Amino acid sequence: MSQKHYDYIIVGNGLAGLQLALAFTKDSYFNHKSIALIDASSKTENDKTWSFWEQNDSTFSHLAYQYWQHATIFVDNQKISLNLKPYTYKSIRAIDFYTEAKAQLNQQENITFLVETVTSVKENNIVEVTTETNNYTAKHVFDSRIPNAFFKDKKATTLIQHFKGWIIKTEDDVFNEDSFTMMDYRLKDNNQTTFMYVLPHTKNKALIEFTYFTENTVKSNHYDTYLKQYISEYLNINNYKIIETEIGKIPMTTFNFEPFNTSKITKIGTAGGWVKGSTGYSFKL
Ligand SMILES: Cc1cc2nc3c(=O)[nH]c(=O)nc-3n(C[C@H](O)[C@H](O)[C@H](O)COP(=O)(O)OP(=O)(O)OC[C@H]3O[C@@H](n4cnc5c(N)ncnc54)[C@H](O)[C@@H]3O)c2cc1C
Repeated sequence: MSQKHYDYIIVGNGLAGLQLALAFTKDSYFNHKSIALIDASSKTENDKTWSFWEQNDSTFSHLAYQYWQHATIFVDNQKISLNLKPYTYKSIRAIDFYTEAKAQLNQQENITFLVETVTSVKENNIVEVTTETNNYTAKHVFDSRIPNAFFKDKKATTLIQHFKGWIIKTEDDVFNEDSFTMMDYRLKDNNQTTFMYVLPHTKNKALIEFTYFTENTVKSNHYDTYLKQYISEYLNINNYKIIETEIGKIPMTTFNFEPFNTSKITKIGTAGGWVKGSTGYSFKL
């Protein structure tokens, strides 16, 4: 086991960790500080799609593979088309963000990427970070691991926004790529809060996603039943191929993440409580 010291360690090369590291590169204070980014994953695969609202372009808007200025909603089975101006709804594939962020960070000599699973972060005079293979120390650690206390907590109000999405390719041109379907509540799993999103990429390719806001999650094949039904009965599509699958869960909670910060450990991203409890949205560039 080696023991190496860094000025700063960022645990997690996800959305929050990479954005933080990029912010460091723009501040001359950090030019000569040693920074390690540790993640269990090498982040070389697409693990999610981030969708978000913007009025104007921001740093990574150019990575958006699609954006929409029109949306469709269904109210009492009536189809309503909305002009979203001045807002635009945009989608970014996480892999495009990881690739671009890592390319920028790899140009910095003071930044090191380590692919290791962190098992503990302990604060003494200095912060000790233990991984499955090594020990590290740092003056300050930014940690994107969700505290275990969150999963055991019984006091906070917590709903889980959990979902499964299929990117499908159809034989015919069936989608209008200028407009996406927002929270279509017509297809229900009993009395639970469930809705479908349709985010067209092209005329014959779209992400169809079935989402729950509930206390418990469901098995992966449970979402499939509703995705199949929606595609055939609501979109009237019979010939399609599933080319990618996305599955995820996001805490929507009143849990207080603040006490897990100390003078030397800062929790970031979802672990820092930055997901908006009412919507599950946190993506911001
Ligand atoms: C599938 C999915 C889709 C989402 N879509 C949207 C969206 O459309 N719009 C929106 O606003 N929000 C969305 N969210 C919510 C939120 O924006 C994302 O979860 C976002 O990625 C949170 O950023 P983060 O840095 O906190 O976590 P992550 O991006 O998940 O990064 C955490 C990183 O920590 C690493 N890690 C965890 N534990 C360890 C460990 N022990 N050792 C080493 N590394 C570790 C993980 O490998 C991961 O890379 C989505 C979430 C999911 C799961």
